[in-house]
Amino acid sequence: MWYLAGLVLLVVVFTISFPALRRLRVIVRLVRTPPVLPYPIPVEGVQQRQLIHSWGAARSGNRRHQGIDIFAPCGTPILSATQGLVFTVGTNSLGGQIVRVLGPGGYWHYYAHLSRYGDVQEGQLVAAGTVLGYVGDTGNAKGTPCHLHYGVYTWGNQAVDPYPLLSDSAHGRGVPPPAR
Ligand SMILES: [Zn+2]
Repeated sequence: MWYLAGLVLLVVVFTISFPALRRLRVIVRLVRTPPVLPYPIPVEGVQQRQLIHSWGAARSGNRRHQGIDIFAPCGTPILSATQGLVFTVGTNSLGGQIVRVLGPGGYWHYYAHLSRYGDVQEGQLVAAGTVLGYVGDTGNAKGTPCHLHYGVYTWGNQAVDPYPLLSDSAHGRGVPPPAR
């Protein structure tokens, strides 16, 4: 019993002392908030009719395309599709310069091949429409036409096809989530 009380006290002290752990509350809130669907197209000025549905297309190394490539001139602003917590502002070999945001419903939003980052930092809460970065060709997109690779993953890291989740009608509006 004392052991349990001590543990609770420890958790409370740690939560107050370390800002990173305070984000746990934000994470819990985000995971419990239903996603607002559809999502706006996360590249400024791109319309739904311009989108190419390339989910599942073959990629190098026996990979399948787990996302959507949204083509736009290099340097076009990338706008967060959702509110969320910026988890990663970094690089990897395939994605180049990437930003990963945890959004409502516990969905991960992955933005890749950025030419440069927006004014965002890890641990920052962003609103839908916040500039996360700019369209580019970094990572394995080097030398291809500039595009945003946009991926959506469940909390358990299962890739979801973003194409049917995106819509023009979502731009700048608080469209309520569909009833499920
Ligand atoms: Zn892609």
